[in-house]
Amino acid sequence: MNGNQDEKAGGVTRRQIIAGAAVAAGVVGTGLLTPRVLRAVEPPKKWDRKTDVVIVGTGFAGLAAAIEAHDAGAQVLLIEKAETIGGNSIIASGALNCVDPERQKKQNIEDSVDLHFKHTIEGGDFRGDPEKVRFMVEHGLEGLQWLEKLGVEFEPKVYAVVGALYPRSHDPANKGRGAAIVRGLKAQVDQRKIPVMNPCALTGIVRQKPLNGDVLGVEAEFRGKKIYLEAKKAVVLATGGFGADVGLRSKHDPRLDKEVPTTNVPTATGEAIAYAEDLGADVVGMDFIQMLIACNFFTKKYGSLANLGIDRAVFLNTAGKRFVAEDSRRDVMAKAVLEQPQKVLLWVADEDCQKRFNPAMTEQIIKDGYSFRADTLEGLAKILKEKFNTPEDVFLKSIAEYNEMVKKGADEAFGKKPANLKPIEKAPFYASPTQAGVHHTMGGLRTKGTTGQVLDRYGKVIPRLYAAGEVTGGVHGTNRLGGNATTDCIVFGRLTGVNAAKEKARA
Ligand SMILES: Cc1cc2nc3c(=O)[nH]c(=O)nc-3n(C[C@H](O)[C@H](O)[C@H](O)COP(=O)(O)OP(=O)(O)OC[C@H]3O[C@@H](n4cnc5c(N)ncnc54)[C@H](O)[C@@H]3O)c2cc1C
Repeated sequence: MNGNQDEKAGGVTRRQIIAGAAVAAGVVGTGLLTPRVLRAVEPPKKWDRKTDVVIVGTGFAGLAAAIEAHDAGAQVLLIEKAETIGGNSIIASGALNCVDPERQKKQNIEDSVDLHFKHTIEGGDFRGDPEKVRFMVEHGLEGLQWLEKLGVEFEPKVYAVVGALYPRSHDPANKGRGAAIVRGLKAQVDQRKIPVMNPCALTGIVRQKPLNGDVLGVEAEFRGKKIYLEAKKAVVLATGGFGADVGLRSKHDPRLDKEVPTTNVPTATGEAIAYAEDLGADVVGMDFIQMLIACNFFTKKYGSLANLGIDRAVFLNTAGKRFVAEDSRRDVMAKAVLEQPQKVLLWVADEDCQKRFNPAMTEQIIKDGYSFRADTLEGLAKILKEKFNTPEDVFLKSIAEYNEMVKKGADEAFGKKPANLKPIEKAPFYASPTQAGVHHTMGGLRTKGTTGQVLDRYGKVIPRLYAAGEVTGGVHGTNRLGGNATTDCIVFGRLTGVNAAKEKARA
């Protein structure tokens, strides 16, 4: 969550992960910023290594696929271009949405798979593929329970992560975040002795004929050498999104140039999509790129407290006024922020809001001077006056009006939902100046229904090529709900692993 902190993950610090990722990104360049040529990768005279299933990428989707493919009887090899594993998954908050009768009943939350489906489809402006969405929401709980069975613990209570629209988000226990899921899955990969080669960057996909026949394996760069890895059953692309690929993202949305911050790791680039396109693969929804109000105003990097919650919090502009419902869709909030002075929102919250999450991270970001804390609202008002020239009286009036609304149980100004209307009353109080950054790429490779098989531009399956997770398109439509990506990656990662393993091995 906080780009300025050394969040420990898998025995390495987040800073090391980013550094490693940046080094590895250099191996293949940062996506489409590096000139590329359209090319077919010829089958090599000799393969350097053989296995049944080659899985590219070690985030939620790749790790889930690897475990399932192995458990379905296939020999698996994972490759990863970064020096450390985990991609965006390891820095993610790791909130996972699913209908969970046991937890939700205890909190008196009415929910159903149909409602999760409706929220997802409507939240993506009806541009998500209903078949895929139905599959994801129907298998979400199974995915959560699978993770629990593998040893990943989740909090007993659900909530609504920013942009989730409904309280069905599950946080990994003990503030473990996405790193806890990655660590849990990686431990299972190790237990199964599934090899992981890294840094090892995919540089092309090998097919019998450029636009015909089976996918046979991959070409990759490993320790400065070109190598060929044969996949007797299938290749699975789980290479994540392209939020850090300025060339590719600004091709699809010219506003998202290099000045726009991103929450993503530097290896979130789109070259794997291009390699699949070299084989004729189709893409879908590439223009749908999500901005999230999660970047710090001062650093322009991932690292705001705004992700910590929206119930005991308000969003104010630097004039000290509310301007949007804090529980709106992510795209609505991002657009609203972009229209404010300095394109910044001040997330203002109380102790009960922030304490649910990671106090150590909060301490660090405050120590760094990137967010503020005061014992009284008046004290916070003084700080904001000094930093942003926010009028103290307007600020205090906005908080008082908000707390009045909470008592009434209705937000007549912006329509924040009654369930999220909680008071800002418990000291100390926090303010985090926040900006929108590129967060999630909803578009990507087009897959067949709920099989994970990659389709070509004519709707035909590219034999033995699969994809899962953020590298795929079509699930989330125009706007992904907060907490739905973890579900997507786990559900489709597992499915893809099973299906890849079911392919008949070539001789
Ligand atoms: C800061 C942050 C917080 C988030 N919080 C949440 C949340 O709470 N809930 C939620 O639902 N979603 C959240 N998301 C989104 C979600 O975490 C991601 O969509 C998800 O982790 C993507 O998983 P993945 O397995 O598809 O890709 P990744 O986890 O990004 O993994 C892809 C891997 O592939 C590797 N790779 C890429 N190209 C190549 C190549 N050419 N060769 C070899 N390897 C390659 C990358 O280095 C990377 O390690 C968050 C995202 C971010 C950035």
